[in-house]
Amino acid sequence: MAECNDKKCPIHGEISVRGNVFTGVVVSAKPSKTAIVERIIVRYVPKYERYKKSRSRITAHNPDCIGAKEDDVVKIGETRKLSKTKSFVVMEVIGKKTIVKSEDDTFTKKEKKKEPVKEEEKEEKKE
Ligand SMILES: [Zn+2]
Repeated sequence: MAECNDKKCPIHGEISVRGNVFTGVVVSAKPSKTAIVERIIVRYVPKYERYKKSRSRITAHNPDCIGAKEDDVVKIGETRKLSKTKSFVVMEVIGKKTIVKSEDDTFTKKEKKKEPVKEEEKEEKKE
């Protein structure tokens, strides 16, 4: 889209993306300029020697020039607090949800090999 006057746009705006970068699926893009991105976290639980699958939802700013829609796989980056709930911004649309299904396959393979997955993420607090 031609013009972008969004100050909170990662490309045309004034914000800088720093910190965590995640990939997730847009669950809802209904609120204006907002996308709710869901991420599946796979973590190894030593006590049970199993993997635990949990999901985390992040609200991210979705500028008009990016315009992510439901079921889009997006890359989101951490930035300053943009509103009460948003401190992430959608940086790009990578593809459609089907790609995530193949990520699920890699999860099954990892489980068979019993490789601990290292996931150090701060924003767990939200849950
Ligand atoms: Zn823009």
